[in-house]
Amino acid sequence: MIIDCHGHYTTTPPGVGAWRDAQKAAVAQDPSFIGEKGGFGVSDDEIRESITGNQLRLQQERGTDLTIFSPRASWMGHHIGNEHTSRFWTENQNDLIRRVCDLFPENFVPVAQLPQSPGVDPAKSVPEIVRTVEEMGFIGINLNPDPSGGHWNGSRLSAREFYPIYEKMCEYDIPAMIHVSAACNHNFDTTGSHYLGADTTGFQQLMMSDVFKDFPSLKIIIPHGGGAVPYHWGRFRGMALDQGFELEERVLNNIFFDTCVYHQKGIDLLLDVIPTKNILFASEMIGAVRGIDPQTGHYFDDTKRYIDATTKIDAAAKQAIFEGNIRRVFSRLTV
Ligand SMILES: [Zn+2]
Repeated sequence: MIIDCHGHYTTTPPGVGAWRDAQKAAVAQDPSFIGEKGGFGVSDDEIRESITGNQLRLQQERGTDLTIFSPRASWMGHHIGNEHTSRFWTENQNDLIRRVCDLFPENFVPVAQLPQSPGVDPAKSVPEIVRTVEEMGFIGINLNPDPSGGHWNGSRLSAREFYPIYEKMCEYDIPAMIHVSAACNHNFDTTGSHYLGADTTGFQQLMMSDVFKDFPSLKIIIPHGGGAVPYHWGRFRGMALDQGFELEERVLNNIFFDTCVYHQKGIDLLLDVIPTKNILFASEMIGAVRGIDPQTGHYFDDTKRYIDATTKIDAAAKQAIFEGNIRRVFSRLTV
């Protein structure tokens, strides 16, 4: 079985964007606007249509079986509005993901967005973790290390205020993918420097902290191949030694890197540097890069090809990356 652990619902029916636009307009007019949850008003047929021609078709064409699926990351928009804005939007988005997974139970398994908001205590996201995991069968969360959308003026991931989230994750044995949303700072490009910078930043904040000492069973996924981390492993190891600890001992029981790296040499480097047990197959389709690489004739984000083609690891290691490691990290996955 081949499990893609990083997919977003980027092809939602128009009702979703319309609901969000109305909410954004209301909160732009009145920053203290509360509103209500309401609903997107999209039909099952619209959902089916938005999936079958897109993610499902690509799964079949590429030979993958199951996608661990979450709301569109760039639309989480935690910086928009107030805590009510984020809460109602998030609940609706997670409800929608559950519907996709109910319509295609063989193909998609749900992961939750959190209702984070700048300056709002992260503990306020715990009820949505409880709701999605206990009542709705979700198997993981996406945790935004910078709900400000590119200003990085909140707490580090090592801050005590994140501990209620980590406690819940350990209680449920669910992983978090460290994943920012759209940048509202014009110096960053959302799916380029902002995403990759956040992957690197999240990793560094955690490696410099006591989080894994305090939560030995915590599981964190650094997406997009780990940002700059694998490429600069020597720098991080050196920094760790300067601080008196071994990087491998500090992080490799808890941190996992996905394979959303869109060229063969990048994947080969990841496989060379990071132990197989810490690598999880993912493509993030349909996402940041939707085109075909003229050098190969294949989609940049068809990452299964790179794993299939690599000579860096053997067949058993490839199967671990495609399935075994993912089942270990997402222990609530039962499909
Ligand atoms: Zn993503």
